[in-house]
This record gives sequence, C-alpha cells and structure tokens, in this order.
Amino acid sequence: MRLYRSQRFIRPDLECHISSKALKHNVRNLKSLCKDGTKYCAVVKANAYGHGIAEVVNILKTEDVDFFAVNSFYEALHIDTLIDRQSILIFEAVYPSQPREQILISAERGFHCPVASADAVNFIQDVLEGSSHVFNAHLNIETGMSRCGLDQNEAQTLIDLIDQAPNVRLAGIYTHFATADEVELDYAYEQLRRFEDFLGTASIRKRKDVIIHASNSAATIKMPEANFDMVRCGISMYGYYSRPMTDPPIKLSPTMKLQAPIARLKHIPAGHSVSYGRSFVPYRDTVAAIVPLGYADGYWRCFSNKAPMMVGEHVGKVIGRVCMDQLLLDVTDVPGVAVGQMVTIIDDKHDSPCGGYALADLAETICYEILTSVHAHVSRIVH
Ligand SMILES: *Cc1c(COP(=O)(O)O)cnc(C)c1O
Repeated sequence: MRLYRSQRFIRPDLECHISSKALKHNVRNLKSLCKDGTKYCAVVKANAYGHGIAEVVNILKTEDVDFFAVNSFYEALHIDTLIDRQSILIFEAVYPSQPREQILISAERGFHCPVASADAVNFIQDVLEGSSHVFNAHLNIETGMSRCGLDQNEAQTLIDLIDQAPNVRLAGIYTHFATADEVELDYAYEQLRRFEDFLGTASIRKRKDVIIHASNSAATIKMPEANFDMVRCGISMYGYYSRPMTDPPIKLSPTMKLQAPIARLKHIPAGHSVSYGRSFVPYRDTVAAIVPLGYADGYWRCFSNKAPMMVGEHVGKVIGRVCMDQLLLDVTDVPGVAVGQMVTIIDDKHDSPCGGYALADLAETICYEILTSVHAHVSRIVH
C-alpha cells in the first residue's frame, strides 16, 4: 500500500492551544440537544477546522462520538490508525477513475462514503467482486443546496442498483442545509420537507440499518426536527455558532487560542513609515513589537493596520502591512511589555477584540475561514 505520509515541519514558537475541556464540553452540549440514541458525527475536515486533526481525534476518540467526518479518502487514511471504536465518513463521493486500491481500502477499513452515479456503484462492485468486503455507500439527496446532491429520481435508481450489488450496501441517506445558519429558516424547513418527502417515497425509514442524517451545527442547534439518526457538527464543536447568536440554547466555548512571542521591541520615531508600502506612519514615537507570524502562517494580509491582538490584558494594534512571516504591533501603551511575552492572536473568548467573530468581521468573512487558516506548521498544544 502506498503511504501518504510526509515529514512535517513544526514551528514550536507559534502556539495553537487546544482546550480538550472546551472541546468535550461543546460536544456534550450539542449532544444534549439531540434525543437519546442520536449518533454524533464529529466533523474534522480541514485539519479539524485548523485545530489539528490528529489532536482533535485523539481528544474525542474516548468520548461518546460515533463517526468522524473528513473530506477526502486521504484524511480518512490519516486518522484511521488513531481510532478503534468510531467509523469514518468521507464527504467526497467515489468517482469511477479513483485508484482501485482506495475502494478496496475503504471497504476493508469500513469507511462510509457517498456515491453519486451508477458508474461509481458499478466501479465499486467491479473492484470488490468476489471478495467478502462490503462498501458502505451514502446517498446525498438534493433538496436545495445545489452542490453535490442527487435528484430524487436519480437517487431511487441508485438505491435499486445498490440493492442488486452484492458488495455495496446502502448505509446512509443524507442532505445538507444551505441556510441553517441564517436567522430566517423558511428555506431550511423547505429543504427538510423535500428530504422527508424523499424518505417517505423511497421507504427509507423501514430500512433500520440506514443512517438518516441532515443537520450541521446550525441545524443541530436550531432545528431539532432535522436531527434524524445522526448530526454532523463541525464549527460548534470548536466553540462557535455558525454566526454569532443572541439567545443560544447552549453555551459553546472556543477551543483554540493562537499565540506567538514578541521577538523584539523596536522604537519607531514619529513620522517614520512602517513596513512594505509605507501604509502606516506613526504620529508619535512608537514602540513596536515584532511578532514572528505572518500571512504564510495563516494570519491574513488584510489584517494590516486593522487587527487587534492581546498583550496580557492590553490591546495592541497591527501597524503596517502584515508580511509573509512577521508583523509589527503597536505596544506603545502596553505597560511592562517585554521581549518573549506571548501575544494572543486568536482569542478563545467570544467577546475578545481578537476573538474568531471579531477577526472574521474585520476580514469580511466567517469564523470558519479564520480558524481553518491556521497553518499546519503552527504547533498544536493540547491542554
Ligand atoms: C462541513 C460539513 C458539515 C459541518 O458543518 P458545520 O457548519 O461546521 O457544522 C456538515 N455536513 C457536511 C456535508 C459538511 O460538508
């Protein structure tokens, strides 16, 4: 078997702290919203939303988690050796020209994976023909996301085909909401209605071994009717509502805190421009902290002259352009600031000026993108 490993380079000075307590607390809180017996699928794609996939899987493998979901076969292979109790759900559908060994390994290891065409079902059956392995196929039903779902007729055709394929079994039926994170839930409920229509037409509920699943984090929190047999939670497990919520039914705690040390303090006289492009010119004599972190580490260039960071209890502001692997922070007003002191770049408090939501607002994006940007070479420190 080909190995998909590489030598990992780690920067020990850049510290991404992961709170296992917060992570477990969030999982338990999310599970408390589901009726007893609902399976919990922990979504760990995108390096566990930037937290470190191996770290997160290691923390959660002893918790009441039934599935880990990843995007690709490669991530599944990467975490497979870490777990013994849970199953792995891959979101990327099988495609017929995929290396045959991946189908074989998926079947051997019991991975669950969507299938999106008759060609794919026939391909899987061809690879596994005559073996004792059975492939766990899921069908993603199109209900309004218009991304990778199957139209209802197509889905019914595939169910019939799977039922005739001895080495493929229908293991799951699911859909995905496009707007469950929004305040207005009409469209999400319309998707739910279409999904239930399909479940009825195709008599899915009679098949006791088929896992029906639909909810992402937002639906788990706001649409209990959509939880079915399993919920698939990503962002909220990491402590964030998909977008800030005013009266959330459960309390979530951010699980990540990103920190880096002050490498040097530099005095910049008033009127001397700072960094590339001279985008900042201090009006007063300024003490700048050089922080060895930049856009190559996942701290975006658009934070230039904008984003705050916490230096102890005090706020410093990024001045000048964020460079590839360093930036400058105005610490003129921070008493006792010292070289070696750790600066907090992404805070683990919702109301912090450099919390995930605040940074997402500054960058005009969503907290998902802020978290997933933290580069894999940043060291993950589990508490
Ligand atoms: C990423 C993903 C999820 C998790 O979404 P969150 O909003 O992070 O909870 C669930 N289902 C599918 C199909 C996904 O791709």
